[in-house]
Amino acid sequence: MGRMRTVEQHARVIADLLRPTPVEPTDLAAALGLVLAEDLRAPLDLPPFANSAMDGYAVGAADLSSFPVTLTVSQDIPAGRTDVAPLTPGTAARIMTGAPLPPGADVIVQVERTDGGAEQVRIDSAPPPGTHIRTVGEDVRRGDVVLPAGTVIGAPQIGVAAALGYAQLPLRRPLRALVLSTGTELVAPGNPLRPGQIYESNAPMLAGALAAVGAEPTVEHFVADDVGALRAGLDRACVGQDLIITSGGVSAGAYEVVKDALTGRGIEFAKVAMQPGMPQGAGRYRDVPMVTLPGNPVSSYVSFEVFLRPAIRAAMGHPDITRPTVRAPLSAPLDSPAGKRQFRRGLLDTVDGTVAAWGGPGSHLLAWLAGADCMIVVPEDVTHLDAGDDVEVWLLG
Ligand code: AMP
Ligand code: MG
Repeated sequence: MGRMRTVEQHARVIADLLRPTPVEPTDLAAALGLVLAEDLRAPLDLPPFANSAMDGYAVGAADLSSFPVTLTVSQDIPAGRTDVAPLTPGTAARIMTGAPLPPGADVIVQVERTDGGAEQVRIDSAPPPGTHIRTVGEDVRRGDVVLPAGTVIGAPQIGVAAALGYAQLPLRRPLRALVLSTGTELVAPGNPLRPGQIYESNAPMLAGALAAVGAEPTVEHFVADDVGALRAGLDRACVGQDLIITSGGVSAGAYEVVKDALTGRGIEFAKVAMQPGMPQGAGRYRDVPMVTLPGNPVSSYVSFEVFLRPAIRAAMGHPDITRPTVRAPLSAPLDSPAGKRQFRRGLLDTVDGTVAAWGGPGSHLLAWLAGADCMIVVPEDVTHLDAGDDVEVWLLG
């Protein structure tokens, strides 16, 4: 067995395969989770005009020297009125929250301090001048950078973009990825199983992992372990994709269809010093970046987490590409193979701050993966850890 690649070496190979996705004007409705490619400047002030922060009466401070005072209501200003007249001295304007302040008014008296009259209003007390008035540009000044390039668009960012009048944002578009599973033993969920067959779980799992990072998965129906069928499936489905991900058929046995079909055709197969996920491959197929993951479900998923998730996030412009990582003491001992970086499924106890392996290291233990909330990373040179030893923990969202 030749020297294995390190995790970092293989991660670099995959990161180098992917180019940044193009920047596209994107509707706000499709913006969530994508990354802003340019600074977003305010084309207007927010608020764009002085307006009332309360339902009440807009009054000149000069008319509020003693209480109670009764004033004629000279106009009614609901939100949305575009033809507000200046306030006639000695009168009050009934005004609603968000409605434009009439020129000449310098305080809003909340309705609770009055009798609420529509023709005449009795004002019992008033706050100091300027109170309950939202001034022009108090939130944002026209020309300000409101969202810098690299901002990940969440709900509040969509809100402020809409408030500034943007219907679209310049965002890096989702990476398009084809997912193709291989295995003659595989049956689509929903169909009966014959002895020796299993349900196909990698493609839906990887499609979910892609969707969770904002990428756009296309699942090509899995193919049998047949070189012709695999090439035909790839040729049909690779057009327009930014990335092809396959699962299965890359390890050391016979019938390793991905290896058989693609060795010498732009894909390099390698052993990576990790557990699970040792057999890996990467390269270009018909010029589309391609990553061939091992078939064991946990290996497939861990490989996605270690290699593909960061590379895809980088291609989609994320400033921050890795999972949040903490160090925590183990609550139970752990063994790990020499010379390989072990990624164990774990559970973090957020009350006492410890972490424990969740299930064994077997790469078929999919239900344990589904029950885990983190991955424990054990370095290559460590073969045993005791309870209380600190480990690196990746928090899976
Ligand atoms: P392979 O890498 O093709 O040798 O597969 C390794 C193990 O993973 C075998 O037990 C396969 O049956 C299983 N496996 C491969 N692909 C899938 C898949 N798409 N869904 C579920 N199990 C799979
Ligand atoms: Mg297989």
